[in-house]
Amino acid sequence: MSEPRGVASEPQYRSTMELLLQGHEPETRSKVLMQRAGQRMGLPREVIQELISPQEVHVFRVPCKILGKVVNFWGALALHNMARGPYKGGIRLARDVNIWETIELARLMTLKCAVTDVEFGGGKTGIRVDMPEMYRLFERTPRDREFEKIISLDAVEYYAQRFRDVFASHLYVPAPDMGTGPDEMAFIYNETLDPASVTGKPEGTHGWLPGRAESTGLGVAHAARLALRELQGRHAEGATAAIQGFGNVGRPLARCLSDHGMKVVGITDLYGGVYDENGLDIEALTEHALNVGTVQGFPAQELTNEALFRLPVDVLIPAAAGEVLTAENAPQVQARLIVEAANMPTTVEAMDILDERGIAIVPDILANAGGVIASMLEYSGSLSADKMAKEEVFERLCRKIETNFELSRERALELGCTLTEAAVQLATERVYKVMLTRRMI
Ligand code: NAD
Repeated sequence: MSEPRGVASEPQYRSTMELLLQGHEPETRSKVLMQRAGQRMGLPREVIQELISPQEVHVFRVPCKILGKVVNFWGALALHNMARGPYKGGIRLARDVNIWETIELARLMTLKCAVTDVEFGGGKTGIRVDMPEMYRLFERTPRDREFEKIISLDAVEYYAQRFRDVFASHLYVPAPDMGTGPDEMAFIYNETLDPASVTGKPEGTHGWLPGRAESTGLGVAHAARLALRELQGRHAEGATAAIQGFGNVGRPLARCLSDHGMKVVGITDLYGGVYDENGLDIEALTEHALNVGTVQGFPAQELTNEALFRLPVDVLIPAAAGEVLTAENAPQVQARLIVEAANMPTTVEAMDILDERGIAIVPDILANAGGVIASMLEYSGSLSADKMAKEEVFERLCRKIETNFELSRERALELGCTLTEAAVQLATERVYKVMLTRRMI
C-alpha cells in the first residue's frame, strides 16, 4: 500500500460543529476514510472538515403512551449533506444508538448515494429503544414479537407526528434500517399521505415498490458473486459463505446465495447461531426464524458469533451490526473475501489488518446499495404513479451495483489503494464538485 495508514489529519483539529458542541467526534470510519480521500485530492483541511460535518442534527424526545404507560424515547435526526438531492437514510431503533453513530450513518448515506450515483444526499434517524429494558418495565417474559412490534410502531408513530413536515416536504426521505421495516414505514405514510415521503413501504400501500423488501439482500448477493468472479476468478456455484444477521437483509441474502448454488454454512444473530458444513436449509431456517424471532433452536450445530468470523469460508458477510470486525478478531478471519452487508461492520484498524493479510473487502457503500437504489426507484415511481415489475427492479439494481463496482475497482488500481478507499474517494469527489458548483463550500 502506498497510502500512509492511521488517521491522516492532526487529531487535535476540531470542526466548528465540534467546537460548538464542546465535544469530539470519535475517529469514526467514514471520517477517517474521507480525511484520507480529501488529502489524496489535495483539499485544505477546512474543506475536508466541511465535507465531513453534518448540515443539521436534531436531538429529540418522543413521549409514547404504550399499553397505558408513558415511555420517553430519545433520538437524533442527522441531516448530513443534500448537495446532490434530498437527505435519504433509514430509521434505526436500537438500544445503543448515539448521536455520533447517527451522524456517521448519515455521512455514510451521503457517500453511498454519491458512489451509487442516485440523486439523494445522506441522512439518518436513530431512536434509542432498549428492548430488554422494555421487557423489565412492562414485566414481560419470555420474548414476545407482538409486544416488540407495539413498541417499535408506537415509537415511530410519535416520531412521524413530530417530523411530519420534514417528510412531507421531501427534505428528508426515510426508509427502514435496523429495528424497523415496512410496517413502521406505513406509519410515516399515514402521517403525510404522500407516497414519495418515505420508501420501503409495505406491499399495497400507495407508491410501494415490488422487490424493495428484498433489494438490499439481493444486491449484496450480487456484489458477492461479482467479487468472487472479478477478484478471485471463481464461480459462485459451490462457494461457501457465512452470514452474521438474519433480518431484513440477511434472510433474502441467504436465500439468493443459496439459489445461486452457494453453500451458506453458518448464520448467527443476536441470540445464537447455526452451522452445517453441507449448507443450511435456508427455506426451513427462514420459516423457523420468522416463527421464533431467531435462528437459535433450529436443528443444526450451534455456532457463536465469535466462531462465525473464524470459519474457513470463501465469503464472510457481516449483515447485522456495525464494528463487529475489529483489530482483535481480524487476525483470525480465514475467509479470503468480506462483503459488507451491514453498515460499517469493519473498523478502520481491522480494515488495515485485513488489507495487509490480502483479504479483500467489498465495502458497505458498494455492497449494500441495493436498498437505496430500489428506494430511488420507489421514490421516482411514487412521484409518477408508475410501477415497475420486480424483475425490472432487480435488473436495474444489479446493473448499477456492477457499474459502481467496476468504477471503484478501476479507481483503486489507478490510485494504488483498496476498493473501500477508492469508493469513498469517488463519492467524496462527486459531493465536493456539486458543493463547489452550488457555492456551498
Ligand atoms: P434487522 O433488524 O432486520 O436484522 C438485524 C439482524 O442482525 C437480526 O438477525 C439481529 O438478531 C442481528 N443482530 C443485531 N445485532 C447483532 C449483534 N451485535 N451480533 C449478532 N447479530 C446481531 O436489520 P437489517 O435491516 O437486516 O439491517 C442489518 C444491517 O444492514 C444494519 O447494519 C443496517 O444498517 C444495514 N442495512 C440495512 C438496509 C435495509 O434495507 N434494511 C440497507 C442498507 C444497510
